[in-house]
Amino acid sequence: MSKDWNARTKMVHSGSRRSQYGEVSESIFLTQGFVYDSAEAAEARFIETGEDEFIYARYGNPTVRMFEDRIAAIEGAEDAFATASGMAAVNGALMSVLKAGDHVVSARALFGSCLYILEEILARFGVEITFVDGADIEQWRAAIRPDTAVVFLESVSNPTLEVVDLKSVSEIAHESDALVVVDNVFATPVFSRALELGADVVVYSTTKHIDGQGRCLGGVVLGREEFIRGPLEAYMKHTGGSMSPFNAWVMLKGLETLDLRVRAQAASAQAIAEALEGHDKLERVLFPFLASHPHQAIAKAQFEKGGTVLSIDLKGGQEAAFTFLNALEICIISNNLGDAKSIVTHPATTTHQRLPDDQKELLGITPGLVRISVGIEDTQDLLNDILQALEAV
Ligand SMILES: *Cc1c(COP(=O)(O)O)cnc(C)c1O
Repeated sequence: MSKDWNARTKMVHSGSRRSQYGEVSESIFLTQGFVYDSAEAAEARFIETGEDEFIYARYGNPTVRMFEDRIAAIEGAEDAFATASGMAAVNGALMSVLKAGDHVVSARALFGSCLYILEEILARFGVEITFVDGADIEQWRAAIRPDTAVVFLESVSNPTLEVVDLKSVSEIAHESDALVVVDNVFATPVFSRALELGADVVVYSTTKHIDGQGRCLGGVVLGREEFIRGPLEAYMKHTGGSMSPFNAWVMLKGLETLDLRVRAQAASAQAIAEALEGHDKLERVLFPFLASHPHQAIAKAQFEKGGTVLSIDLKGGQEAAFTFLNALEICIISNNLGDAKSIVTHPATTTHQRLPDDQKELLGITPGLVRISVGIEDTQDLLNDILQALEAV
């Protein structure tokens, strides 16, 4: 039945499990373990766990399972495994399948901690990594080899919002039987169908839009059942990166309103990007659905909306950017995104501070660049706030 529901219905109802009390709101099963009726029952459960049977919270928990079932239904994935953070999800997706001697091709523009996993951890264990410009399909074609095991990318890059042609990259990767792993945070489960476009594994930091209210860390890996309940679950449950039941409950509640929040945020982001384009204090405005964006056509083919984040590049570099940030009255200076509150970030001095200057230049992280994660406040109030702060520059 739930297969026929549209996403917004699934966000409210899929995956629910009610106890004998028939509670309306999902229960938090804040328990580490489970009691067996007999020694024989304990033995049997360690051989095979049934639908409503659990062993230990690191392996699975009813509240966590509700969240996994709900997000799998929304994403159209066979299964999902919830993790302690977005990084536990990325690490699990990669480490559970790779071994010494394997080859990985990855887009260069990555979240800093993803880059650390590839360059520092996987490289140390003898995995060979080739980095490419994610937007250049010819570079993918040249880098993917018959022995490439995994292809990794962010469908929309942070903070310059470049868009990867996921369909084409997946086709090339599958010619070599490589597993396509997509970090899909910026695209959100609302606007993207990464699995339909060819991804094998989709990863979210649920810390972002899915919680959406700045409370909990979390992550999730989605894909085919044989992968999720095979190597991924084995890796996660034995290395300890599982999601806590309390955080799973927060994420379940976040999913209920995800569609409403993200659509409101995306509408505001589009309106703000359009209003700011051509402003005389700005070098450029980056937003995937603007006609001036180099990947607008691919973005429109892959995503229903342009997303909830835009970046602006101020004339006058870091000094102008800092004056702008300090003059804002509604938008807060922080580094999360996808939150109900609008959040501004100066990547060059915070999230991307550690990158060497030549890397920053290569990725377009200029001193004047400011990332704006648009919240659910009134659109006109946000625009007025941004315009008055630009006046101060
Ligand atoms: C935030 C983020 C992560 C990491 O998620 P955490 O929940 O902070 O561990 C990974 N990838 C992208 C694209 C992100 O935005």
